Amino acid sequence: MKINIAQLRQAIGASQSFSFHTPVEDLAGETGELWLKGRIEVTGEAVNTGRLLAISGVIKGVAGQTCHRCLADFTSEAVITFSENFREEGSAATDPDALVYHGDEIDLAEIVREALIVAEPLKALCGEDCRGLCPTCGVNRNETPCTCVTTSIDPRLAALEKLLPKK
Ligand SMILES: [Zn+2]
Ligand SMILES: [Zn+2]
Repeated sequence: MKINIAQLRQAIGASQSFSFHTPVEDLAGETGELWLKGRIEVTGEAVNTGRLLAISGVIKGVAGQTCHRCLADFTSEAVITFSENFREEGSAATDPDALVYHGDEIDLAEIVREALIVAEPLKALCGEDCRGLCPTCGVNRNETPCTCVTTSIDPRLAALEKLLPKK
C-alpha cells in the first residue's frame, strides 16, 4: 500500500489521489485478526501543504461482528476515515504529531491498520431494535417470540397494580 510521492514533493499545493484494494489479512500481519472481512478498499488524497504532506482517506469494507445483545454473528458495511501528516526525515518538526517519511515513498499500511484498530466498535449491535436473548428461557427473541414475562414492574407500581380492577 505504497504511494510514490516523488512528484508531489516538488510542488507546494499539489495533490495526488490514491486507491487500493487489498485483502484485509495482508494488513493484519502478525498481530492476528482485524474485525473486517475479505477485501478492503482504501481511497484518499495526499496534499503537499508546504512543510507537510497531509494524507487523508476512507477505508471501506465489510465488518464481521457478534451482536453483544443477542450474540448472533452478522456483517455490516464499515466506513472509516483517517488522516495523518507526514514530514520528511530531517525536516523541522512543525507538527509534533507528524509521522516521518524518507525517500519518495509512503507506505500507508501502518496508518490504515491503526485506523482500523481504533475504529473497532466495542459493543456491536445487529440492529438498533435488537431484542436480545430472553433472560428467562434464553431464546433469541429476534427469531423466536417467547411467552416469558420479562417486564419487571417497579415495586411501588406493583402495589398500585393490586388496586386496579381485575379484568
Ligand atoms: Zn442482536
Ligand atoms: Zn423467554
